[in-house]
Amino acid sequence: MTRLRHRHLIWDWNGTLLDDLDLSLSVMNAILARRALPRLDRARYHTLFDFPVRTYYGRLGFDPARDSFEQLSVEFISGYDARRLESTLHRDARRLLGAARDAGLRQSILSAYRQETLREIVAHFGLDGHFDHIAGLDNIHAHSKLDLGRDLIRRLDTPPGEILLVGDTLHDLEVARELGVDCALIAAGHHPADRLQATGAPVYPDLAAFAAAHGL
Ligand SMILES: [Mg+2]
Repeated sequence: MTRLRHRHLIWDWNGTLLDDLDLSLSVMNAILARRALPRLDRARYHTLFDFPVRTYYGRLGFDPARDSFEQLSVEFISGYDARRLESTLHRDARRLLGAARDAGLRQSILSAYRQETLREIVAHFGLDGHFDHIAGLDNIHAHSKLDLGRDLIRRLDTPPGEILLVGDTLHDLEVARELGVDCALIAAGHHPADRLQATGAPVYPDLAAFAAAHGL
């Protein structure tokens, strides 16, 4: 039986349900290698990654006179998209989505990934039936999903106090706070446990721990 007082779960996709950390690192390392820049390992990535991703790109050492943010975004997304099916769901993601549905919770996705590709990959994993709404951005620049979140909340017809956003980054928490909804963070994606815990928000090491804590 669920101990959640929420009626709607809003899921982040990349890093929260989809385990794409290693793919993101590998794609970025290929871009860095082409410019003889220092490569990333998990620890350095976790320290540098941020939203808007423009900030993160700036920290990687690219020369803005040579590489515009827009060009780098295109290079990253085309590299990522070409290999997107190499990533798998996080362990427990599929079971947890089913358990939440069986507990009577409604669910949606709010993602900075491009809408069309997002829908396609959610369907690829056979998960589209779980979600009332699958909301992605209409561009590839991953600036912010706040406006998209506002639009989603309006469509849910659920009081913000009954909505829980589940994500893996500081941006997810920032969006949840702006939207006035609760937030749970899973430290198995693009930000490390210490950066997430420093916010004071509830942090779980993985989806299994989140599920156990909520009776799902
Ligand atoms: Mg994420």
